[in-house]
Amino acid sequence: MSSSKIVGIDLGTTNSLISIVEGGQPIAIPSAEGDYLFPSVVGFSRSGERLVGSVAKRQAISNPERTIISVKRHMGTDFRFTCDEKSHSPQEISAMILQKVKADAEAYLGFPVEKAVITVPAYFNDSERQATKDAGAIAGLEVVRIINEPTASCLAYGLDKTEKQETVLVWDLGGGTFDVSVLDLGGGVFQVKATAGNNRLGGDDWDQRIMDWLVEEFKKQFQIDLRTDRVAMQRLKEASEQAKIRLSQETSTHIKLPFIAADASGPKHLDVELSRSKFQELTHDLVEKTVEPALTALEDAGMSKSEIDKVLLVGGSTRMPAIQDKVRSLFGIEPSKEIDPDKVVALGAAVQGAVLSGEVKDMVLLDVTSLSLGIETVGGVFTKLIERNTQIPVAKTRVFTTAADGQTVVEVHVLQGERELAAHNKSLGRFELRNIPPAPRGVPQIEVTFDIDVNGIVNVAAKDLATNNKQKIVIQSPTNLTQEEINAMVKDAAIYAEEDAKRRTESQARNKANIELDTAERQLRELGEQMSFEQQKRLRDAIERLRGSLQTYDTEKIKEDTKVLQDAMYAVSTEAYMSVGGEKAREAAEKSGFAPTARAAAGGGGEAGAEGGAEEPSDQDLFGWFQQ
Ligand code: AMP
Repeated sequence: MSSSKIVGIDLGTTNSLISIVEGGQPIAIPSAEGDYLFPSVVGFSRSGERLVGSVAKRQAISNPERTIISVKRHMGTDFRFTCDEKSHSPQEISAMILQKVKADAEAYLGFPVEKAVITVPAYFNDSERQATKDAGAIAGLEVVRIINEPTASCLAYGLDKTEKQETVLVWDLGGGTFDVSVLDLGGGVFQVKATAGNNRLGGDDWDQRIMDWLVEEFKKQFQIDLRTDRVAMQRLKEASEQAKIRLSQETSTHIKLPFIAADASGPKHLDVELSRSKFQELTHDLVEKTVEPALTALEDAGMSKSEIDKVLLVGGSTRMPAIQDKVRSLFGIEPSKEIDPDKVVALGAAVQGAVLSGEVKDMVLLDVTSLSLGIETVGGVFTKLIERNTQIPVAKTRVFTTAADGQTVVEVHVLQGERELAAHNKSLGRFELRNIPPAPRGVPQIEVTFDIDVNGIVNVAAKDLATNNKQKIVIQSPTNLTQEEINAMVKDAAIYAEEDAKRRTESQARNKANIELDTAERQLRELGEQMSFEQQKRLRDAIERLRGSLQTYDTEKIKEDTKVLQDAMYAVSTEAYMSVGGEKAREAAEKSGFAPTARAAAGGGGEAGAEGGAEEPSDQDLFGWFQQ
């Protein structure tokens, strides 16, 4: 058999799975232990041995401090897992899971597994997707594509489908995440119309409710708080999950944990009965939490419930009767569960792999962005370039301008999210475009381009249209890096994070001070004669003061003196424009602190020092954007 095959991997919060297309059909590949589910658990034994999968899950009971579960929840964050003075990033931990999955699959298939499609929740942002790619690279896999889990599910279901057009809602409730997607299927085309979800809701939460209940029951009976005993809690967690799973079949279940605690009177055993109805009462609100994302997805897709032809149940937690009842009552149709809900995502990923390797033909896959993308503009406002649920791959361009006279630097701050203010969204990165020829504010044209590739990875570029000077955020393809390089980069980012942030603040303050000095000097030259003596003196004093503080490394003082200078300029421009431009110009001047040029009347001044106005675009030329 050839090793040009591309496997599909569902790197799950609770469990991971690997699948491959054989004879035109996707099949799940079992682990060395003979199970299809590879628990996404990594542990370190006391002798320093690395344990991955079911052995790690088992030792978690006796060794909870040396075990990491649900690492997927930390992907894309600077979380570190420390054991034996060694610290690991989420990427490294996930890579350990992927290495086990890869090795077991190779042993089963009898050929090397080199290329993979890996799935992520639709709500994963750019850094979470990138971290997933990095994990693959560290594990020695070429990640040929990252696809959304609900999209993979549709691929698994769509493989043998007819030409009929259908609108499908994918309801994916796994161990740690909940995703709802609305898709149009038919004729080999899968179009994701909308996605919504909650990446903090999953089967683990249902387990937790049973655990909490067990702890309370035990306390009532024996006055012992099991929460203080991590080993006991780990046993409780296992037992809770098992009880939950049994309750999907049975109407009542026995939970027995002998020797769970002891006091002076001897060992204590947990032995209780949990009915399905009690369980449903304990978890009623969790079921209700699934409704809102479902309705959001429908609304975003511009559809009503009655337009949904099919609901696919994906993820182990959809086996719970209460979830199936909720889906039935919401949509008024019987949900599809023909494909094992645990396997469906991995099977779909394998189908995508087969499409990419050329094994399966005639299938087109359209995907959408799950969050809006844009940049920070004046006043800390988030200006979107790509709305959520836009089909990818996509590139969008929009022209911005400077906020201050003589501004030679703009900072492009890239963000992802849905909130109005930049500070409330997820920052993806920043970069500066320098050497813009000095010109009045509003004149330079800075073209910002967002490019999202098939993996959902974002590239952002800014170009000064006058000089063709360009800067961009290049997200290096992690597959070109060696494992050591990736490890070193991850480590460095953590070590230097604070220092970098300090430097950035310093340089921003200096840049801004220099820009303000330029502007103030021009104001003196050009408007000096019209100024009163007091105004001139105030401006000159403020200039001197700021020059003085620029000789120091006192960032706070530089900022303070910049503000004093801005206030002095503001007083001048307000007065000047009061006399010529009336109320509107005064308002603009008040906002900006500078004399607005005719073209930049919509722009504000200040904070971001870049990128056009916070208000509605008033000038097509200036703010126009087009789709490439
Ligand atoms: P997944 O992320 O799709 O592997 O889903 C794992 C989650 O599904 C875990 O929380 C499991 O406890 C849960 N699960 C698996 N089987 C069942 C079942 N029969 N009933 C309820 N939950 C289940």
